[in-house]
Amino acid sequence: MSTPFDRVVRGTVVTSSAVWPNAYVAIRGETIAAIGQGEPPPAAETIDHGEDLVLPGLVDGHMHTSSSTGWPGIESATRSAAAGGVTTCCDMPYDVPKPVTDLAILTDKIGWVERTAHVDMALYGTITKTGGVDAIPALAAGGISAFKLSTYEYDAVRFPRIDHPTMLAAFRQIAGTGLPVAIHNEDQELVERLTAQARAEGRTDPIMHCRTRPPLAETMADLEIFEMALETGAHVHIAHSSLARGFELADLFRGQGAKTTGEACIQYLCMTEDDIVRLKGFGKCNPPFRSAAEVERMWGALLADKIAYVSTDHAPWPIERKQGDDIFACGAGLTGLQSFAPLMFSLLAERGLSPTLMATYCAERSAQLHGLWPRKGAIRVGSDADLVVLQRGDFVFDQASLVDRPEMRWSAYHGRRMRARVAATYLRGRQIWDGATVLSQPGDGRFVRRSA
Ligand SMILES: [Zn+2]
Repeated sequence: MSTPFDRVVRGTVVTSSAVWPNAYVAIRGETIAAIGQGEPPPAAETIDHGEDLVLPGLVDGHMHTSSSTGWPGIESATRSAAAGGVTTCCDMPYDVPKPVTDLAILTDKIGWVERTAHVDMALYGTITKTGGVDAIPALAAGGISAFKLSTYEYDAVRFPRIDHPTMLAAFRQIAGTGLPVAIHNEDQELVERLTAQARAEGRTDPIMHCRTRPPLAETMADLEIFEMALETGAHVHIAHSSLARGFELADLFRGQGAKTTGEACIQYLCMTEDDIVRLKGFGKCNPPFRSAAEVERMWGALLADKIAYVSTDHAPWPIERKQGDDIFACGAGLTGLQSFAPLMFSLLAERGLSPTLMATYCAERSAQLHGLWPRKGAIRVGSDADLVVLQRGDFVFDQASLVDRPEMRWSAYHGRRMRARVAATYLRGRQIWDGATVLSQPGDGRFVRRSA
């Protein structure tokens, strides 16, 4: 005799609009078939999470699996995502040795996702430093969720600066695809001059990372990309604003008819300049941490609904790349996939805010911007049964618990008190994390195309 549902997951269900105690999500195959409160319907398997919170699996709209290790990094980073309750990763295109700049490379990367990923993945595409604009329509047709370009050059091949005429031409092409284009927003000339001056003065200590990338370096870049957004009609998205002003500028241009948005990374909602002094290279990311007052302004922007979504910008450099006395020589980027859900829950709880905001900003909104909603990022009938289960309590985040490859097991949040831990993760109806062990196999994750 068959039962109507394959699996029922019970708990306190949290959506972007409400918290439902004593509720259930009923799954048939890979999708959500029913949602309700009270006595759950019969199913082949019922998993009772008691009073634990059941949220939509997180959709991390901005992360990097392959900046240091190339595509083999997909397997280990997505293992960490499974343990962190992130069921969809939107992966950046700045990979070694080949950034995702044409359809052939995209096809290769999709193959790596299908063979090695533990969670589902959407992919960004980008263009070469010169001559790459023509590849834009094919990348869009290939199913990428967004484009990414940069005003700042880390590497002429992997992560180039796109000059203004090329960026303008790219925006015109991208506008025709309807896809958003996320921009790394830092002014190269200002940062390079300030860094050269600091070096000349013998100042390579951690705080100089912040001093050489002042707020103006960000907002100058924001203005030029937004002016080009207004001119071309492209949806231009700040890939990470560490400043509330970035969202105010996006708002201002939107009011004038441009399609402009901005994203916050979770570190800009909690870390300050004091943290890079304490953490040294392990607290280095771009843009840098700002002041405690700026963190408060960021929360003001979030609560005023000016922020598109909250991401991690997970960028797992090996430990050796984060050590040393010269802050300028350290790799820029933090690990964040496995701490994302506990940290976001804790930040909200510490401010007396509802976990519905986590479902909104870390799942629904990111899925929407990437054209994945409501298949991803929602607890709705018909959506993929992607769930993260949070056990509330008093925990301390330990970098030894990270499940990424050993050289990536470091965290800026090591030792932080957390108000929750990830007790379980479900990907399309199957449990892939039980609170202690990753249950998925490489290749259980799939490439998810942007839907039109
Ligand atoms: Zn990034």
